[in-house]
Amino acid sequence: MQFPAEPFKIKVVEPINRTTREERAKLIEEAGFNVFAIPAEKIMIDLLTDSGTSAMSDNQWAGMMIGDESYAGSRNYFHFEKTIKSIFGFKNVIPTHQGRVAENLLFSVMLKPGDVVPNNIHFDTTRANVEHKGGQPLDLVIDEGLDPTYDHPFKGNMDIEKLKNAIRKYGKERIPLVMLTVTNNSGGGQPVSMENIRQVSRTVKKHGIPLFFDACRFAENCYFIKQREQGYRDKSISDVALEMFSYADGCTMSAKKDGLVNMGGFLGVNDDRIAQNITNLLILMEGFPTYGGLSGRDLEAVARGLKEVLNIDYLHYRVSQVRYLGDLLTKAGVPIVKPTGGHAVYLNAKEFLPHIPQEQFPGQALTVSLYREAGIRAVEIGSLMFAHKDAETGKMIYPELELVRLAIPRRVYTMQHINYVAGAIVEIFKSRDKIRGLQIIYEAPVLRHFTAKLKEI
Ligand SMILES: *Cc1c(COP(=O)(O)O)cnc(C)c1O
Repeated sequence: MQFPAEPFKIKVVEPINRTTREERAKLIEEAGFNVFAIPAEKIMIDLLTDSGTSAMSDNQWAGMMIGDESYAGSRNYFHFEKTIKSIFGFKNVIPTHQGRVAENLLFSVMLKPGDVVPNNIHFDTTRANVEHKGGQPLDLVIDEGLDPTYDHPFKGNMDIEKLKNAIRKYGKERIPLVMLTVTNNSGGGQPVSMENIRQVSRTVKKHGIPLFFDACRFAENCYFIKQREQGYRDKSISDVALEMFSYADGCTMSAKKDGLVNMGGFLGVNDDRIAQNITNLLILMEGFPTYGGLSGRDLEAVARGLKEVLNIDYLHYRVSQVRYLGDLLTKAGVPIVKPTGGHAVYLNAKEFLPHIPQEQFPGQALTVSLYREAGIRAVEIGSLMFAHKDAETGKMIYPELELVRLAIPRRVYTMQHINYVAGAIVEIFKSRDKIRGLQIIYEAPVLRHFTAKLKEI
């Protein structure tokens, strides 16, 4: 079936507060036209992120009741470790409270100032952690991955020529590791093919450079491989995962995505010496090696979530729900990034609002409109997030893409919620010429999009 029914029944519900357009107009103005400043209770459908927003299963909640909160050697840690080893295949498993700590620990141990770290596209926290250690992040995704209209089954692939050139240019001495982000979050949640993973692995192995996955959405990536790549149709998701990780030396993971939990993460690594060095830092920063910043009950929820996420019915529903939203919008002529990825639909705000120039933040203007008209919270990924002054000329540099991301939390919203979202966006699209641009009245020196205040022009 193209769009399967939800493969679960709902046992616990959380009411959604209804708000009127008038209330929302007042709230968004008070929030300085920034949806980060709106209390979540005043949101009807929250598509701000898919991170840490999953609904846990009855099985995960039951697991939390048998959390063993011993400081050392909790039985839940052993379950966590055994589960991760069986899915990912790495020799050492190190728990962390979320993904960015895993990144920080890994780069603390592996990077020295002046080093270069290639990735398909670094996620924000990965990039920031590389830079924090004095390293330089390189984004080597295939050119097609940067074109919002280009339809390609594996738009997250790394460009092997670009990788070879980087190794030639910087030398293996300055490349302590290469990363692959599956799926490629910053590139629209697009998958990486097994063929590409194999080629990247072969290329780096030749030079003795380790390969690590940023594995946050590994199960969604495996699903795309099974669906789209020759030779995988009859394989189980866990077979695909085992093969995928067999080409790597380790991974960082935010369990807030494909771990189906609200908090958690880990590092997997084969090399015992690296694991030892990371563990020593872990004790300083996160906690004892058998809990690493998490409670026993959290470790249990991750262990159970990681098994559930491999279920093919779940993944089929998950990826189909995202595509369903994309299809409804495309049918109505709303411009989106194609194809839809694993976890989100991206509206192309430049095309949606051609009458608003980039210096008036069309992405943010659309985000404001989604909230005011329909109570939907999305996130701008455009000028407000990325435009910056050139250090030399003082001229503003605007990003190529002006997007609004609608990230779908896992197992949280029904198809009828998605219908509501699509219907509201189509209505907004019909009267898009009424949407006005914005002007900044307050901004922080870094990461301004979180706290900026704006006004309508
Ligand atoms: C969310 C995310 C991270 C960081 O994980 P946190 O749990 O938010 O710290 C790293 N990489 C990617 C691709 C992500 O999506």
